[in-house]
Amino acid sequence: MSASTLESTDCTTARPGAFGNAIGLVCRACGTEQELGPHYACIECFGPLEVAYDFGTITREQIEAGPKSIWRYQPLLPVPADIASFPNTDPGFTRLVKADNLARELGMKNLWVKDDSGNPTHSFKDRVVAVALSAARELGMKVLACPSTGNLANAVAAAAARAGIKSVVFIPENLERPKILTTAVYGGTLVAVRGNYDDVNKLASEIAGEEEGWAFVNVNVRPYYAEGSKTLAYETAEQLGWRIPEQIVIPVASGSQLTKVDKGLTELGKLGLVEATPYKIFGAQATGCSPVAQAFRDGHDVVRPVKPDTIAKSLAIGNPADGPYVLDTCRRTGGAVEDVSDDEVRDGIQLLARTEGIFAETAGGVTIATLKKIIATGQLDPEAETVVFNTGDGLKTLDAIADRVGPAATIDPTYPAFTAANLV
Ligand SMILES: *Cc1c(COP(=O)(O)O)cnc(C)c1O
Ligand SMILES: [Zn+2]
Repeated sequence: MSASTLESTDCTTARPGAFGNAIGLVCRACGTEQELGPHYACIECFGPLEVAYDFGTITREQIEAGPKSIWRYQPLLPVPADIASFPNTDPGFTRLVKADNLARELGMKNLWVKDDSGNPTHSFKDRVVAVALSAARELGMKVLACPSTGNLANAVAAAAARAGIKSVVFIPENLERPKILTTAVYGGTLVAVRGNYDDVNKLASEIAGEEEGWAFVNVNVRPYYAEGSKTLAYETAEQLGWRIPEQIVIPVASGSQLTKVDKGLTELGKLGLVEATPYKIFGAQATGCSPVAQAFRDGHDVVRPVKPDTIAKSLAIGNPADGPYVLDTCRRTGGAVEDVSDDEVRDGIQLLARTEGIFAETAGGVTIATLKKIIATGQLDPEAETVVFNTGDGLKTLDAIADRVGPAATIDPTYPAFTAANLV
């Protein structure tokens, strides 16, 4: 990326410093540069755009003195220096849990779970929405919108409510009921669409082209949205004592999160905030929607779209926008992309809950089950320091384990009844 050749922001509508240290947008496919604005496709080749920066000097002390949210990384994000003074959900700085019990069970030496279920709407999506909301505000866009597989719907509706702006959220009609209710409760307009996520996404792109001033967080302000995922990398490194782990396992839907975690780790090394030690990134998918894992195994560079059929609905994107970049990242770092069956996903949810007291949604089940699988296949080194991301909360996908867990017995309220049941 030739960020240094970009002139500083020349965006007519935004105030000075509206995007912090960001200086422009760069095409990930051909490198063509464009000014900051509500753009997401390259004017030359229609490739995806990415935010470029001129960072200058950033120190650990400066970051550590910041708020306990993603805004401590403001100098590394396309947001203004006074970002914390605007009403938003202040996501991030979620716990990094040393998972010794799970490590023992899997024969591992050194395992951590980055638990993003602790975000305001209980998934990592609060991070990306917070950055997209800032971009929308600075660009004078008045409506926050998205097509969503569920968690993004929660995050957009909540962030818009808190910011006091309108939201319009589009979801596939067959979404888990808890995710529908936990979006609708924030107000705003929730639209259920007869179709799968890829149909919803297509509709949203069409509307984005018609409705000026609507910020579809993952469509027309996607370059800014995507930068929010870098904060997972920053936090993980900072919480490890400013170190990069040797292996990271990340769930893949559109693939944006995985590719931006790689970008974030690279930035930390370049800025000298951590030692630029090598790391491997692994992608996790559910077999019922595993186009990237399939392409990885087949050695292909292109990702052939599939029709999703899995309980991991938050990852059910059949035509992932960042699929090719996930393949590149995992191959380049020496990682892999693997997939697991829905039954393995349920096992993964229960395994994490039983060993670490962390209740993950289906996406977390995918990640834990994939971790187990790639240890068995020899792709992941059980001796090396490993971080797995739990990106969402099990309370939103209760149906996944509803047939598997419950009370050991139902008894009368007497001591003899308890002993007769022979439970412990
Ligand atoms: C959206 C989502 C992901 C993956 O996000 P992408 O950036 O689209 O790959 C992972 N986990 C959960 C819980 C999600 O909601
Ligand atoms: Zn291009």
